Amino acid sequence: MNLVDITAIKVLDRLKSEFVAKVSHELRSPLSTIHEQLAVVLNDMVEVAPRDNQKILARAKEKTHGLISLIGDLLDLSRIEEGVICTEPKPVKIDALLEDIIQFLQSKAASKKQSIGLKRLAADIPPLQADPLALESIFGNLIANAINYTPEGGTIKVQVDIAGINLRVKVVDTGFGIEEKHLDKIFNRFYRVKTDKTRFITGTGLGLPIVKELITSLNGVVDVESVPGKGSTFTVLLPVKT
Ligand code: ADP
Repeated sequence: MNLVDITAIKVLDRLKSEFVAKVSHELRSPLSTIHEQLAVVLNDMVEVAPRDNQKILARAKEKTHGLISLIGDLLDLSRIEEGVICTEPKPVKIDALLEDIIQFLQSKAASKKQSIGLKRLAADIPPLQADPLALESIFGNLIANAINYTPEGGTIKVQVDIAGINLRVKVVDTGFGIEEKHLDKIFNRFYRVKTDKTRFITGTGLGLPIVKELITSLNGVVDVESVPGKGSTFTVLLPVKT
């Protein structure tokens, strides 16, 4: 047997995580200030400044928005790693939580002329013992991705039922799909698939790693099936504790 002492590696890994968390935290508030100030200047500039200048500032505002999302995701990941998320489990009615998320993202889907809805495939859906914020983050990310990576006029279906001891939630879209060779990598940090269809969609590449970490901490599993050009299905299994 080959035993390797990984204590040093673990210490390094923890230091690295602490460093990322600290830097992210320090960057967030000045960036938010810049973002707000750009919004004010842009608002005041309408009609007085040349179009080109307005375009440049609008682009800068978009970029700061992207950085703020990235920092938010990095902080979420380090909080999950530290184990400070998922600390307050309570009974959650998953179908009501999914309805709320769909309601919240409805206007985003409507702007792409997509139809989105929830299907309850079991008569009685038992409550789940979990931190509601963790569940919101998991399904918020998966449903937002389904909307993002589905073209205009597509359909997003969220289904909930029971599979043995688990609650099963499927997020099914008729979107761009993902080639087989990428499927095992999309849960890695910063991994983004760039195709002609998806290269203009902005993102951080941290959504699915957050989803995976949270689901693992709830003793669940997540799986994906996808056919390029047809769509993707993300399936989440979460154990119902009695
Ligand atoms: P982001 O969406 O910020 O890029 P994610 O970690 O959420 O990061 O997703 C990683 C990659 O997986 C995305 O860039 C995209 O290429 C692919 N992906 C995720 N969800 C879908 C989906 N529903 N349909 C097609 N591709 C997807």
